[in-house]
Amino acid sequence: MSSFDSKAVFLDRDGTLIEDKGYICDFTQVTVFPFSVAAVRLLNDNNFKVIVITNQSAVARGICSEQQVQELHRSLTIFFSEKGVVIDDFYYCPYHEEGVIEKFRKKHECRKPAPGMILQAAADHGIDLERSFFIGDNECDILAGANAGCRPVLVLTGKGEQVRGELEQKKIEPYLIAPDLLSAVQKIAN
Ligand SMILES: [Mg+2]
Repeated sequence: MSSFDSKAVFLDRDGTLIEDKGYICDFTQVTVFPFSVAAVRLLNDNNFKVIVITNQSAVARGICSEQQVQELHRSLTIFFSEKGVVIDDFYYCPYHEEGVIEKFRKKHECRKPAPGMILQAAADHGIDLERSFFIGDNECDILAGANAGCRPVLVLTGKGEQVRGELEQKKIEPYLIAPDLLSAVQKIAN
């Protein structure tokens, strides 16, 4: 019996679930996209785990503390749970090779496009990656999803419009391209 029997939709954070405003450290700076609650609800209703996977080099760059990133993710979890929907977990990668904080100044296998965070989440939550999806607005999301063995979906919010052209030039084909998170989820869920 395999314990990897759950399916998941992994979500990028900035530009996919919430507006991309550059480096943000505090929940007061967050604008959740108006369709995100409905999207997460649809995933909950279809038995997908919902797991946010985000690069946060702001930590290595000395812009935000790890504590601030964790606090922001707790606030987001509460924001969604107050609307009756569940985000199962958040994973973030604080590392960057050009960081100024010694502890986080390194190239690390967790940073997308590497699949480290997705593989960790799959192990923690018993996820079957072949039945799972990664939704994001950037090339690193599409590559991380593919590198982890799940189906990558590009949304055209955030950096998505620009990235769509770049992927075409590089002949990288996502499993699906959708205008935003809700329409992506609507296509995946049935
Ligand atoms: Mg993004």
